[in-house]
Amino acid sequence: MYKTNAYAAQSETSPLAATTIPRREPTDRDVQIDILFCGICHSDLHSVRNEWKSIVPTVYPIVPGHEIVGRVAKVGSAVTRHKVGDLVGVGCLVDSDHTCPNCKDHLENLCPNQVLTFGSPDRHKTAPVTYGGYSGSVVVDEHFVLRVPTNLDLPGVAPLLCAGITTYSPLRRWGVTKGKRVGVMGLGGLGHMGVKFAHAFGAHTTVFTTSAGKAEDARRLGADEVIVSKDAGAMQQAAGTFDFLLDTIAADHDINAFLNLLKHDGTLCLVGAPQKPISVAAFTLLMGRRNLCGSNIGGIAETQEMLDFCGANNITADVEVIPMQQVNEAYDRIVKSDVKYRFAIDMASLKVQ
Ligand code: NAP
Ligand code: ZN
Repeated sequence: MYKTNAYAAQSETSPLAATTIPRREPTDRDVQIDILFCGICHSDLHSVRNEWKSIVPTVYPIVPGHEIVGRVAKVGSAVTRHKVGDLVGVGCLVDSDHTCPNCKDHLENLCPNQVLTFGSPDRHKTAPVTYGGYSGSVVVDEHFVLRVPTNLDLPGVAPLLCAGITTYSPLRRWGVTKGKRVGVMGLGGLGHMGVKFAHAFGAHTTVFTTSAGKAEDARRLGADEVIVSKDAGAMQQAAGTFDFLLDTIAADHDINAFLNLLKHDGTLCLVGAPQKPISVAAFTLLMGRRNLCGSNIGGIAETQEMLDFCGANNITADVEVIPMQQVNEAYDRIVKSDVKYRFAIDMASLKVQ
């Protein structure tokens, strides 16, 4: 075992603060990574503040972070896919059972025995639970380590590991291509990646935002249209015109107002995970034979496909790079939807604790 600097929260009301955490020595199959940047996902914040306590109560201390890019520092003797010095990424998953039908289908994201990058019981017993990317170093089974294209801006790559794959996967699965009318609900970390991908896939893309001030950015990111969702008249005018809607909203909202925007047989896919259950009016669904579904990150092979697509098309997240010491202020700004459009923590700042 060795120690690395990290930031952890000790309870749902305490801020993140400097600490040191143990990491295992790499086993034969492991890759040890020096972390360069880690994105801040709203899921980190939901977990730190125990907002999902009714479904997945947080175990403290928590070290969040699942948008990791770094450089390989060491590899185990059986590792074949990565070598020392390579640029790599780690997303929300660090292990699964490798044997269930979903894993066999390359859907580790749906494995019932998946191990999350932070907050899952640690199979290696290095600590009670896994510790995430707000840290200097991490050790991960090579299957869950992704190759990062070398032509991209590194801080902007980190958010691809969660916000990127979480939006890429459903847009691909539900056939978002040229000729489709697609709406992205919420222009935050996930939403702005959804806009970039929907645009890159050739779809006519509309952003639904509560922040009128983001309209210009939305167009720059690739939106053809912007609708302020608080404008009931504009929402009514758009009724029945969308093939697919991607809901990235992190807080309570009236989903019926959005379901009403779908054409018949259209689909609204939830990726946002608000604290409280969503209330759906049956008639909104059945009168249009509409579909409501959800999607959870993506499998490892598809995450690699997404990273390669980003490399080929020069796509990264728009990031505000911050030192680790500003993480608590960053959380408060995320709650106010005041981030353009993802924070990325520069891990060089962790060396001075
Ligand atoms: P984020 O950066 O905070 O973006 C969320 C956006 O939602 C905000 O920028 C805002 O956009 C909109 N919003 C916030 N409060 C709202 C309200 N009261 N009513 C309507 N819109 C509101 O968060 P994120 O990191 O993109 O994550 C979004 C959600 O996805 C979180 O719940 C997160 O836990 C979840 N998530 C799910 C997965 C998955 O696998 N399914 C993966 C990662 C994250 P506007 O300012 O444009 O209105
Ligand atoms: Zn995330």
